[in-house]
Amino acid sequence: VSQRPRIYLDHAATTPILPAAKAAMMEAMERWANPSSPHSEGRAARAALEDARERIKQALGWEGELIFTSGATEAIEIALSDYDLYAKRHLAVEHDAVLRTVQSFFPPLGVTPNGIVDFDDLHGLMDDRDQTRLLAIQHANNETGVLQPMLKIHSVVGEPFGREIAYLCDCAQTAGKLPLPRAEMIPVSSHKLGGPPGVGALLVRDLAVLQARGGQERGYRPGTQNLPAILGFAAALDAAEPWLDRAAVLRARLEARLQSAGAEVVAKDAPRIPTIGAYRMPGVSSEAQLIHFDLAGIAVSAGSACSSGTMKVSHVLAAMGWGEQAAREVVRVSFGPQTTQAELDAFAGAWEKLAARKRAA
Ligand code: PLP
Repeated sequence: VSQRPRIYLDHAATTPILPAAKAAMMEAMERWANPSSPHSEGRAARAALEDARERIKQALGWEGELIFTSGATEAIEIALSDYDLYAKRHLAVEHDAVLRTVQSFFPPLGVTPNGIVDFDDLHGLMDDRDQTRLLAIQHANNETGVLQPMLKIHSVVGEPFGREIAYLCDCAQTAGKLPLPRAEMIPVSSHKLGGPPGVGALLVRDLAVLQARGGQERGYRPGTQNLPAILGFAAALDAAEPWLDRAAVLRARLEARLQSAGAEVVAKDAPRIPTIGAYRMPGVSSEAQLIHFDLAGIAVSAGSACSSGTMKVSHVLAAMGWGEQAAREVVRVSFGPQTTQAELDAFAGAWEKLAARKRAA
């Protein structure tokens, strides 16, 4: 029996590891040593670590500091844990990694129905900012792809950052794909850009905004660095080629076809990173869709992977004003550099089939 190859359209959850990243990791595993050891092997490991740090900074266009972490979640945790309850503000559609760490005393900044920060709320925060020391507004949303208007946000929050309010911009979904925005602190993740999971970084403009804890990474992240993963992360960024323009063309075609079959495109008119699209199939739950697509050989996701285990209603769609019923009918499709037109045609075909079955029922 010939097996059809599976179609992976869940790159926002995690990406396949690029061959160059795999090769770098395999090679690193042959040259083990602790980068903190003073012997020759340790010094060689340290040199490889520092070389990777510089390459990642260069690839991302970041001139500040870089602290290696186990991923964006830990980078967020390091960035936010020093600020007290009253000092932190955040956007309603932040990733759970931010929501868990912020535990803000204040209600979050709202978003418009298109998922973009509500500027009335942002102006309100600036008018009444006495206690605010940190503001978290993500770059692209992981469920909808919506990009926040960074320059407009900067014009309200003020330049340069760091004087009054440190700005944290979660770039887990955009690093390695789009130029980084200006921010005091930027969490990034390797497994969203073709590198291995379990490694990432906190980019910090000035370490003075953080409190050192002692240990590795100049005292800002204790624990032996995962050198093979870090080298895989650097290799993935080095190997990256521009592909967003192609993704934009593929997504536009997909969306035109899905819409004519009755789909509602989430945040259709907002600027969105072209690697993510979210689509509602009226009357069909996202669980039923996921099973249908899985049987058709296609991996997609219902909202963010972290919340799909419990299938709770997306806080992102809720903040955009979606009702519970409609929010439970949305599926996220996310592309990588390997995604082809034929794969998206197969997805669209499977989508049309299920929608037609629903209409006939
Ligand atoms: N922030 C966003 C926007 C994400 O999409 C993710 C990944 O799901 C994270 C943070 C957490 O990243 P990591 O898996 O590297 O901890």
